[in-house]
Amino acid sequence: METAVPLPAWKRAVLKVGSNLIAPERRRLSTRHLLAIARFIADARAQGREIVLVSSGAVAAGRALLGEGEAQGIPAKQALAALGQPRMLEAWARLFDFPCAQVLLGYDDLQNRRRFVNAKNTLRELLRLQALPIVNENDSVAVDELRLGDNDNLAAHVAVLVEADLLLILSDIDALYDADPRRVPTARRIARVAQVDEATLALAGGAGSAVGTGGMLTKLQAAAKATARGIATVIANGRDAAALDALARGACPGTLFDAAGSQVSAKDHWMRHALASQGRIVVDAGAARALRARGASLLPAGVREASGAFRAGDAVEVCEEGASGALAKGIAQYDAGELMRIAGRSSGDIAAILGYEGPETVIHRDDLVLL
Ligand code: GLU
Repeated sequence: METAVPLPAWKRAVLKVGSNLIAPERRRLSTRHLLAIARFIADARAQGREIVLVSSGAVAAGRALLGEGEAQGIPAKQALAALGQPRMLEAWARLFDFPCAQVLLGYDDLQNRRRFVNAKNTLRELLRLQALPIVNENDSVAVDELRLGDNDNLAAHVAVLVEADLLLILSDIDALYDADPRRVPTARRIARVAQVDEATLALAGGAGSAVGTGGMLTKLQAAAKATARGIATVIANGRDAAALDALARGACPGTLFDAAGSQVSAKDHWMRHALASQGRIVVDAGAARALRARGASLLPAGVREASGAFRAGDAVEVCEEGASGALAKGIAQYDAGELMRIAGRSSGDIAAILGYEGPETVIHRDDLVLL
């Protein structure tokens, strides 16, 4: 348990704080655990580092405000989030002598390229102004099926958005273990994970796993997302002053997930993980080969079929005729209906067929990722 894994050097971190630290009794809002975390944040900033805080606890704070029992149903929870969000923000802001900024994001903001870029610009500007951005999901307006739903995954997206070099997930658990430490006395902390794979995910409650609770799965999903984007990730206990001290000294007291290669661009990551496909384009073998081998753009000539009611600007899957599974994902330049009309034709014919000069490509290579 004593192995001290050094943290990689970092300049900008996204720090995620879970509801359990903010409302330990699931009701009452408490600053008990926040103080030590706030000190960690202030010290890091004093050393010239940048922090973006992703804080949960809006619902818990709302419940505390009303003295309510369990909220029933989505509208009730959304109302509690609306009531509690300012309280949660205030709880943090009180602890700092620099300005705090509230940023509420939703799934749409990550999915829509324009909103993604706007959010990115806002966060960048807040950091430039040396404010502390405090991010949460925009729970009170999020539609259930289009929610991120958990702040671990949100924090990973934010880490990508701000191009952080570290994602720190603080909760009330110490680390990832090889078995459920509450049930298996010999459970051992996993100090370091080189790559988050199926076996790692299984530790968090996949089939047959012992560790089924505590939100470890979403933390591992977040670690998988962030590390794939070149962002080292740490899971540590934010209630434990010694753990926070260790982090401040550059040691990882919990589990460190090593960053994978950092080549994947933010856009690439966004297309792979945040962007939901709205349809499918089936291409012929020649086009499939060109996409795979040459990183080419997709031209109308190679398109066989378009399905789904996608619009220009939507993400679509690209599949090879007769093959199962998608070969690429990208942003369509045409609506499905238009695409059906120009499918199989040369780019030079587009204007004559559609009656206007459209883009030459169906998906531009810059907007395409191979899967
Ligand atoms: N956004 C939720 C809240 O502030 C919490 C989601 C989570 O903890 O993962 O209450």
